[in-house]
Formats: sequence, structure tokens, C-alpha cells
Amino acid sequence: MSSRRELFLEEIGLTPLWRLKSAHTQECGTSDAGVPAATPEGSTQNATGGAARAESIARMDWDALKASVATCTACGLRKTCTQTVFGVGDERADWLLVGEAPGAEEDARGEPFVGQAGKLLDAMLTGIGLKRGEDVYIANVLKCRPPGNRNPEAAEVERCAPFLLRQVALIQPRLIIAMGRFACQALLDTDASIASLRGRVHRFQGVPLIVSYHPAYLLRSLPDKAKAWEDLCFARRTMADLRQQTLSQATP
Ligand code: URA
Repeated sequence: MSSRRELFLEEIGLTPLWRLKSAHTQECGTSDAGVPAATPEGSTQNATGGAARAESIARMDWDALKASVATCTACGLRKTCTQTVFGVGDERADWLLVGEAPGAEEDARGEPFVGQAGKLLDAMLTGIGLKRGEDVYIANVLKCRPPGNRNPEAAEVERCAPFLLRQVALIQPRLIIAMGRFACQALLDTDASIASLRGRVHRFQGVPLIVSYHPAYLLRSLPDKAKAWEDLCFARRTMADLRQQTLSQATP
């Protein structure tokens, strides 16, 4: 392990656990523009209206999608947040990371993962040789901050999900990392625990997807930080395999 990586692991509080684990499990290197009106907040969304809205969003280009998110009032969250938080990064990235919803700092700055959890995420990305914005796109399930950082409600996720789906379709990432329970619920349609979902490759609309813990949770749980590091190493190996497969397919 390089000294720079060692420094970074120390920084994110992983080094002691890293040393306790075997090299085999820990070492990485081996191997509203145009959107049909939404049902007003609080009422049950009409199924046909919801489908028409989702279909309309599914046809948008980046500019239309950004405008649509910025002017969205499909749930009540826009009334209490400062601004929408669309997502950030390389719009042709191989890596797409999906979190839950903006927190206070994200709400103030209009960018995902810029608070404490974001600092941890950036440090972890550095550990596997990645950098925000460089072949990496970061988005949330919800584009508006829930008041007091409460959990997203099912109706909010349902109404915001078409935006994330369109982001995935436009980016066409090679690999998605779903961070935390709400990203898994939205992308895999499951209530299964993170512990039971991690360590294997799932698929979202054909795109390989790996599950890990949410960075905000990792700030409170040192043992799971080590597991999240394993997940990132697994993701890096998976990405290498996926790139290799593309190369093999291109070579006669
Ligand atoms: N937590 C998230 O899920 N997303 C953010 O953007 C910030 C914190």
C-alpha cells in the first residue's frame, strides 16, 4: 500500500481495522418544461398522470431535465427547501454514485455530498483513485432536502424517481453504487438490509449495481467503514472486469 493511501485510510479512520483484516479480504489491487402537471402535494397521485409525467421525463435531454427538476412541485419538499440539488459530475461518467437526499449544506450550496458525509465520500473515492467530477457522477434519490433531514417518504421517492431514472439513462454509467437504504429501495425496489445486499453485483435497468453503506451512517459506525472500503474495492475490481469485457468484445 502506498504511503499516500495509508495517510488517506488513517484520515477516514480505517487504518486500525485495515491492519486487523487479512490481505485477501482488504487489498484492492488484486485482481417543468413539458412535464404533465403533477398531482398536488398531499393527494394520491393519479396513476395515469404519474405515468404520463414519468414518460415525459424519460424523453428529456439534460437541459430539459435540469429545468424540470428546478421547477418541480410534484411533492411538498420544494416549499421547505432552499433550492433543488440536481446532481454533479461528468455527464458521461463510468461511475454513478447515488445517495439519499440533500442535507443542510447541500441545500445551501446546491451540490450533493458537500457536508461531512461528502468529505468522507470524497476521501473514499480518492482511496480507489477516483475524483468527484472526473468520470464520476453523484446524484441523490431526492432532489430536495426533507425538512430536518427526515427520511424520504414513499410518495416523495415515487415522484422524484423519474428524474434519477433519466439521469441514469442519459449518463449510461458502466457501474452504479447505491449508497444506503433509500438508494437501494429506489433502484432495486427492495427493503432488504444493506448487509444482505452488499458483496454481489445487482442490475438496475441492465446497469451493474453495487450496494454499500451511506457515508452519513459510516460517520457513526467505524466497523462498517471497513466494510464500505471492501465494497469500494469490490466496485473497483468489478469496473476493471467490465472494462476488460468491453475490450474483449471489441477485439475479434
Ligand atoms: N446525504 C445524501 O444522501 N446526499 C447528500 O447529498 C448529502 C448527504
